[in-house]
Amino acid sequence: MSTDAVPVDQDLLGTYIQELGAIGETPEGMYRFQYDDAWQRARDTLLTWIDEAGLDGRVDAVGNVFGRLPGSGDGVVLTGSHVDTVPSGGKYDGALGVVGGLAALAALRSHGTPTTTLEVVALCEEESSRFPANFFGTRALLGLVAPDEPERLRDRDGVTMAEAMRRAGLDPGLVADAERHDLRAFLELHVEQGRVLADEAVDIGLVEVIPAIAWETITVHGRQDHAGATPMDLRRDALQAAAQMTREITALVEQEGRPAVVTAGRWTVEPGQPSVVPGLARFSLDLRHPDLAVRDRLLDGVHRICATVAERHGVVVDVVRDKDEEPATMDAGLLDVCRDAAERCGASWRRMPSGAGHDSQLMASRVPTAMVFVPSVEGRSHTPAEFTSLLDCARGASVLASALHRLAY
Ligand SMILES: [Zn+2]
Repeated sequence: MSTDAVPVDQDLLGTYIQELGAIGETPEGMYRFQYDDAWQRARDTLLTWIDEAGLDGRVDAVGNVFGRLPGSGDGVVLTGSHVDTVPSGGKYDGALGVVGGLAALAALRSHGTPTTTLEVVALCEEESSRFPANFFGTRALLGLVAPDEPERLRDRDGVTMAEAMRRAGLDPGLVADAERHDLRAFLELHVEQGRVLADEAVDIGLVEVIPAIAWETITVHGRQDHAGATPMDLRRDALQAAAQMTREITALVEQEGRPAVVTAGRWTVEPGQPSVVPGLARFSLDLRHPDLAVRDRLLDGVHRICATVAERHGVVVDVVRDKDEEPATMDAGLLDVCRDAAERCGASWRRMPSGAGHDSQLMASRVPTAMVFVPSVEGRSHTPAEFTSLLDCARGASVLASALHRLAY
């Protein structure tokens, strides 16, 4: 590391990762959902650490947790990520960006008063694991939460978000108070969740773009018939047609090559009986590419395949677009700051697209934003097997601290 790098305390960061990772941990992985008991313990633990680091702790109207290092001038440079997990999740997704940001601000505190205020944040409900409220904390900061969301949205047990907020000591009527107008920049440290950095033995990923995600629900209507009495050549089996569609769609995207990805992860088959030829099959499609034009060309191919296969199998297909996101471009100036920070820390780096979605994609729509990735061992994520070495975590946090130093001092 060069003299103007800001190394974080690796032991402190390791303690943060292990102790936060024990909150909501089960033999089947991490379960830390918005406003639940584990989430509340995580919030309280973070507030204790923020206090111990000499930062000013605060919880906003929706439960975003902040640690503040006050500066002498206007505006705020924000860093952080989320502490909610997917069901059976890992210890690093989201959590690293929060405790890495905390370790970075703890290290920067010894550099005196910044000119721009620095804050670390643990954002609410990034994953929408409990409520269908993707990026809730980030949306609240940007003033993008609909006023009726807390009363309208329910978890699987029927509990409204408003009720869950009240149980966590929050007033759902005050959601609008979380909006911020003082954010000058947002930096998010995150595990890659893929295997590009690990395979290429590169220390740091500088995320240029978060891809355009399209979600579609594809429903195939065939004919429900008796499984014994209907000869194979007379069937209009909805499932066989749907399966053929996904095989050809997968082949199309494989042919396109990296970084295009497609997944048919959710299936419904009706009536779902061993002795009945399926009359209906429905599957979800998640298709991503950082270039919107390429993604849309692939979607055209998907629709062509569906139509052709449907005709061949004598079935009817209909397609509904459930989600249609724009790609989010990270701020070029901030990426340069992060690249310089990586070089000052002696870390190798490469530019890359993100595979997954992140708070940063929404933040980037209003605030100059950049993301820094560290390697995920074997690219595993959204599983208890998720792992990044402490050395890599600390290197990422040091790059973050060095970038924040450049921005705020
Ligand atoms: Zn995440």
